[in-house]
Amino acid sequence: MYIPTKTTSENHSIQQEIRQIVIDPGHGGRDPGGHRGNVEEKAIVLDVAKRVKDKLLYDGYEVIMTRERDTYISLENRVSVANDLNADLFLSIHANTANDSSINGVETHYIGDSASFARLLQTTTVNRVNMNDRGIFESPFYHFPTEDS
Ligand SMILES: [Zn+2]
Repeated sequence: MYIPTKTTSENHSIQQEIRQIVIDPGHGGRDPGGHRGNVEEKAIVLDVAKRVKDKLLYDGYEVIMTRERDTYISLENRVSVANDLNADLFLSIHANTANDSSINGVETHYIGDSASFARLLQTTTVNRVNMNDRGIFESPFYHFPTEDS
């Protein structure tokens, strides 16, 4: 996941500052992302994204999806959706694969001044899903390479 936010500092309530959220299910269409057998990343992340969308809508956030079905969208177009709206949060969802099954868990990638939000998201997610905490990473905004794609 890549989490660029606008103005989230350590002491501010994130819920008060974030109203409009762009959810970006990674890959899609001719870009399947990573895969394990017949299971493709693009399908997993779309399913996860729709669940996240429903929960956020229920909690009163405004949610915009970069894709709602199995369509290809360039990285530039994904980012421009968030920039054109001046959205408060851009949340890109990925499901990375590794050939070594000992490599597993949750990791959060962010850019800019979003470290505190990334840490909160990472901690909350790890606690909820009971998976390995792989930590947060400041990463440039591009697709994180997987080992088998
Ligand atoms: Zn991916």
